[in-house]
This record gives sequence, structure tokens and C-alpha cells, in this order.
Amino acid sequence: MAVEMKDIVELAKARWFVFQWSEIYGWLANTWDYGPYGSILKENIKNAWIKNFVQERTDMVLLDAAIFMNPQTWVTSGHVWWFSDPLTDCKKCKTRHRADKLIEDRSINSQNPLSEEFTSWLAKFIKDNTKNIDIQKKAIEINKNKWSETDMKIANEYLEYAELIEKNKDNKNTVVHLFMNKSIPCPDCWAKDWTEIRNFNLMFETFQWVIKNEGDLIYLRPETAQWIFVNFANALRTSRKKVPFGIAQVGKAFRNEITPGNFIFRTREFEQMEIEFFCEPGTDLAWHAKWKEDCMNFLTDTIWLNKESLRFRDHSVDELSHYSNATTDIEFKYPFGWWELQWVADRTDFDLKAHMTESKQDLSYFDTVNNKKYIPYVIEPSIGLTRLVLATLLSAYDKVETEEGSRIVLRIKPSLAPIKIAILPIVKKLWDEAMKIFKTLSKTWNCEYDETGNVGKRYFRFDEIGTPYCLVVDDATVNNSTVTVRDRDTGLQDVVKVAELEEYFRKKLC
Ligand code: ATP
Repeated sequence: MAVEMKDIVELAKARWFVFQWSEIYGWLANTWDYGPYGSILKENIKNAWIKNFVQERTDMVLLDAAIFMNPQTWVTSGHVWWFSDPLTDCKKCKTRHRADKLIEDRSINSQNPLSEEFTSWLAKFIKDNTKNIDIQKKAIEINKNKWSETDMKIANEYLEYAELIEKNKDNKNTVVHLFMNKSIPCPDCWAKDWTEIRNFNLMFETFQWVIKNEGDLIYLRPETAQWIFVNFANALRTSRKKVPFGIAQVGKAFRNEITPGNFIFRTREFEQMEIEFFCEPGTDLAWHAKWKEDCMNFLTDTIWLNKESLRFRDHSVDELSHYSNATTDIEFKYPFGWWELQWVADRTDFDLKAHMTESKQDLSYFDTVNNKKYIPYVIEPSIGLTRLVLATLLSAYDKVETEEGSRIVLRIKPSLAPIKIAILPIVKKLWDEAMKIFKTLSKTWNCEYDETGNVGKRYFRFDEIGTPYCLVVDDATVNNSTVTVRDRDTGLQDVVKVAELEEYFRKKLC
């Protein structure tokens, strides 16, 4: 049976992975807290990412920068101007929506669905409505054999509106507004009566002095990447790396999302794991292909995401950002559909060039071997850590049918499991023996001691949080210095000498 979002939300709440704590004040919508197991799982995923992409490579360094930056960073990067989503309200039921997402949803939910290519083109047009109409006309021409009749009809209608807008440049959103009132029903009340679309900037603003003053405006960073560009020259100097090399960073990012939701899939406060990999212009497409593979391998082999729930989606030429040579989304099949989990973008020299122009500082690289100077191109693999926690829980969730009913087994990769070993004395009076083992093993692994309930029930409790091994302390421990170790996935049991436990688990949990 396919896992549903409600299964994950229930388990995450019941077993202290992710839930909302500020309950006594009625919570804060779409804000999620990571409980004892969730915070360790998140930390383990983060550490696995750092190990895979930094520790085990010679061409990467790790940094941890402040959340606040000089606000000019966000002006130069373009975030102050373009980091916005198109916001619209249903006039009838007053619900608030993202226009581009409504159009994407229209393709999934309608009886007469739009094709995937067309939908992504349209959603992109709506977000990026400064694009030249001629480019859009060309896209329609190129795609006319791929798109369905419905797609073409809407595309042409849309172009008519687009031409209207060319004549009325001060109000570009009119085109989308007219289109929506004709073609897109509200998912809540089915009316087609939308307000004009406003561009809503997603950056959270705050002030750094006691008294609010416009000059003191700063932003909570909406991504971790810009710091890496701004500090490229410093990082190059201090790390003594040579291009090609990359800088990795993990940390919080904040976006005032119009439609957060689907549990921790889209939140306003989240964590990202980002890499900016600098390479020589001309080698960028080969590096992009390599990073795509490396990222996919990490998701399948290190995190154990189901292979059949992952796919590459290369951006088509008309969907690509103007600065990008190639961009690929790695999509995951969530219960609510295929959506982005990670992106791998070839950003060319766009960011370094922009910061160079604005700051008047030299951010170019001198290649001493070939005696040439250039502004490096950048490959950016970026993934949401919190979104990856969701994908991990979804991939690991398994319902096992038994004679007593169904029960949940979380088949998380053992090295990522929040609790690696459960230590279960068969009776409470074996506390001393069990504690000795706990004290030894917990120096290396996260262990949990549990003496309540019958052993079978305790096994099932630990299966639910993904604990790969349950260790039972019983009379044999007192008489023969052995314990029984049960494997979560096979149910098989090993009898192991207490003195050999560390070696045993070292092999199992490497
Ligand atoms: P989306 O289209 O889902 O809004 P995006 O294209 O805006 O994502 P990027 O700017 O490419 O996202 O950010 C890189 C990664 O950060 C995404 O692939 C995703 O895993 C994660 N991410 C982005 N926004 C959020 C969010 N609001 N909540 C959780 N994770 C996010």
C-alpha cells in the first residue's frame, strides 16, 4: 500500500520526529520543530552529506557563514528585485495562491490535462514575465508538435494577452490575470475570479538597530549560496585550493512562501545543503553532468531513497534561466506528486561577475599552470535538508501486516537511524548488566535503554523509529556473558559475547 502524507505526519508526531511545540499558544502555522529522534535523523543526514561531498573529496571545503549579510549582497544578486512569487487571491472564497503553482496544478487535476512541457513553460512564463514575447512565440513554434491541441489553444490565447501586455508594459501581470480568469478555477471554490497578480518578494526583512530606520534594513538569507560567491576570493586564498574546487555550506534559509505546506516539504524556515563548484569555462557542462550523477548516487546509495521514486528533469531551453547553460531538477515522487528535491544548475559566471562589477573587487582566478586568468563558471547542486528528511521518511516507511494487525517499520539506513541500538533487559532487575552495556556502546553509537513492556512490544516500538538493532539482556548475560541481538529488517537473531559487542556493531554499522 502506498504511503500517504497523513501516515508520515502521524508517525512523525507520535514518535517525536517532527511536530509543533508552541502548542500552548495555539502553534504557529507551518512551523515545525524537530524532536529528539527527528533532530538526530536530520543531523545524521547532514553529516552523511558532509562526509560524502567534503570529507571524502580533495576538491571541496566546508564553511559556515552568518545568516545576516551586508544587504547590498541581495541587491547585487538580484534577490531584492526578482526573488518573488506571483500572488493572487480568489475574490470569492478569499484564499491566497501562487499563480504559477495553480497553473501547474491545473495540469495534474483537470479532466483535460495540459502536457507537462507546456505546463512548465507556462509556469515559468508567469514567474519570469519580463521575457520577450518573440522568445515565447518561438517556444510555441518549436513545441507545436509536442503540445496537445488544448495546450496550443491556451498558448495562443495566452500570447494574445501577452501582446496586450507588450503594449502596456507598466502592468505586466495583466496578462496572467486575464488568462487565469478565463482558464484557472480556484481549487477551493471553483470560481474563476482572481485579483490582479502582485509580485510578492519572498525575503524576510528585519532591522539591525533598536530603532527602525530604512538604512538599517537587513534580510534573513533566502539561500546559503550568495555568501560563497561574495567570499570566493577569501576562500580561495585561505583554502589554498585550485580551480576546479568547491565550497559547501549547510544552514538555515528563510523564504516568506505564499503557500507553504505538505508538512515539511515547503516551509518558511528550512535548512539547505548547497555547493558552489568553481570550474574553468568550457568544462562546465561536463562538470554539470558529473554532479548530477554524484548527487543521484548520494540519494540512492547513502540515503537509501527508493530509486523508482527519483528522476532527473532537465530544464528545456525555454525554461532555463537566462544565465544558465544547463539546469536539472532531481525530482522525488511524494504522495502529492513529482516535485523538486534538489537542483543542479550550471550558473556560468553570472554571480561572480555581478559581484565583481558591483563591489569593484577582483573575483577572477589566475591559473598558474596554463598562465591564464578567467572568471570561473559555477555548478550549484542545492538540496533542502528538511525536504530530504521528508523524502527519507517516505522512502523508509513500511507497513507490515501481521495476525494482530498492521505495524510500522521504518527501514532507515542503519548508519542514519536516530537510535542505532536499543538495550532491552528482559526484566528490570537486570538493570546493572544492561547499564554496563549501555555505557560502553553509547560512547560510540546513539543507544536507548528501555525496560517497559514485553520484549515483543519493545521490538515493535523500536522498529517504528527505525532502530536497526535490539539487544536483549537476559539470564544468559548473567550466566554466559552473552546477549541476543535482533536485526530490524530480517528479524534474525545473533547470540553475541558481551566482550565482542563493540566489534560486532562496528562491522554492522560502518
Ligand atoms: P520550489 O520550486 O520547490 O519552491 P526552488 O526551486 O525555489 O524550490 P531552490 O531555490 O532551487 O528551490 O532551492 C534549492 C533547494 O532548497 C530545493 O531543491 C529544495 O530542496 C529546498 N527548498 C527551497 N525552498 C524550500 C522551502 N520553502 N522549504 C523547504 N525546502 C525548500
